[in-house]
Amino acid sequence: MNIAKLISDAVHSYNEQVGDNLVGFRNSYSGRGMYGRECVGITGPLGDCRKVIAMVINDAYDNTGDVDHEEELLAPEFDFRGLVDSLMDWEQDSMGRSDMVLYWSDIKPMEPGVEQFYEHEQCPDCGEDIPTGTASGEQCRNCGHVFVEQVGNDGAPAS
Ligand SMILES: [Zn+2]
Repeated sequence: MNIAKLISDAVHSYNEQVGDNLVGFRNSYSGRGMYGRECVGITGPLGDCRKVIAMVINDAYDNTGDVDHEEELLAPEFDFRGLVDSLMDWEQDSMGRSDMVLYWSDIKPMEPGVEQFYEHEQCPDCGEDIPTGTASGEQCRNCGHVFVEQVGNDGAPAS
C-alpha cells in the first residue's frame, strides 16, 4: 500500500474539484529537524490541505478490502485505522503569507516514474503536471496522452 500515492491522487482530485491548483504535492520535503531526510507533504491554505486529508481518508475507506480495485492499492488486511492515525499526525510549517506545508516525516517519498522522462515533468500535449510515480502506459488525466518511458538514441532519457 502506497500512502504517498493516495495523497498525491487526492491532491489532484481536489484541485480538479475546485478548478484551481490550490494544493501542491511534495514528494521530497525535508522539514525542520529532519536533517535532509525526505518525506511526503502537501502545500496550500490550511483549510484546503485539511480537506485533502479528509479526501485521502474517504478514498482509502472506499477502497479498503476491494481486491478488484483497478490499482489494487489497498489489500483486504489493510490497516485503515493505522492510516487515519498516521494521516492525522502531520507536522506543519508556514510557507509564505497564507500557505502552509503539512508533512508526514514517516511517509516515504514515492519512487520516480515515467514523469522523469518528460520536460518539466509535464504532459507534452497539454502541459499538465505529470504525477510523481506515474507508471509507463498510464494516461494523462487531462487529455488522455499515454506516457511511456522514453529513451533517446544515445541511450539517455529524451528531454
Ligand atoms: Zn495531457
